[in-house]
Amino acid sequence: MSVAPPTFGLSKSRITYFEQCPKRLWLSVHRPDLAETDEGAEARFAAGHEVGAAACSLLPGGVMVEAEPDLSAALATTKALLESGHEDPIFEATFQHDGVLVRVDILEPNGIGGWHMAEVKSSTKPKDYHVNDLATQVWVAREAGVSVDSAAIRHLDTDFVLKSDGSLEGLFFDSDLTSNIKDQVETRAEVVAAARETLAGEEPSILPGSHCNGLPCNFAAYCEAALPLGPEWPVTVLPYGGGNHWLSRGVEDLFDIDPAVLTNPTHQRVYQATVTGEPDHNVEGARTAMADWAFPRTWLDFETIAFAVFRHAKGAHLTR
Ligand code: SF4
Repeated sequence: MSVAPPTFGLSKSRITYFEQCPKRLWLSVHRPDLAETDEGAEARFAAGHEVGAAACSLLPGGVMVEAEPDLSAALATTKALLESGHEDPIFEATFQHDGVLVRVDILEPNGIGGWHMAEVKSSTKPKDYHVNDLATQVWVAREAGVSVDSAAIRHLDTDFVLKSDGSLEGLFFDSDLTSNIKDQVETRAEVVAAARETLAGEEPSILPGSHCNGLPCNFAAYCEAALPLGPEWPVTVLPYGGGNHWLSRGVEDLFDIDPAVLTNPTHQRVYQATVTGEPDHNVEGARTAMADWAFPRTWLDFETIAFAVFRHAKGAHLTR
């Protein structure tokens, strides 16, 4: 008796993983135990949730499709809304096609019988992987029978200024990608088939490279362990592109650089601190810079506190 091959359900995220790196998709399904704990995941999820809620709050009359008790209910609710001739925005509309399930952030009626799809992001512009991400959603929704006429990444508008607390009108900007995703939408079926083929096979043999950047991968430690041991102090410790400059010339070890040829003062300081093991602390420079500061002084790490949606109007503007 022949055994049918397993059918792997795919989500938008899994297809994005596959397009970044087939090995990442394979590991995320077959070896999730190898993933590193993502310390920032909770904070990013909270920020994403806050941005999503802000985008929905700007569309009064919108209906949220709940996945309660499960995604089947979300699929049924979405279908019922569309079949009833619903004419207001729908949040988290849920569709399925060819075993791929997507939940669309926002679907808005466009007034001529079709729909505009918006994928909400907390970034200030679309990123490369958003194109395929959006294409997957448009493909699934269209194949499920929805007339999606346009699609955009709805991201934060860097020109936005919060004029009064809670007044978020203008916080978002739609980067319309309808024409950018045309080719990707047309090839989704092949991409999905290739992703399934990868999942049905052995672990892909792929070494880390430039494809690992852009979308942080939590299998980096596992993959990098397969690489030959590099120098203790790689040239990549030099900031502002200094490391890549030397890598492109075939130099990998910081200690192989002649310090006399380093012209950037920061590179010189990093080099000196590294080779001598002496921390670089410009006490006089710090004293001079802070001489006029009033007391009490408070240290605030902006990388720790980075609200995507402003809390207070005074002086609020986006700088990212
Ligand atoms: S670290 Fe790089 S090579 Fe390894 S799974 Fe992730 S993207 Fe692929």
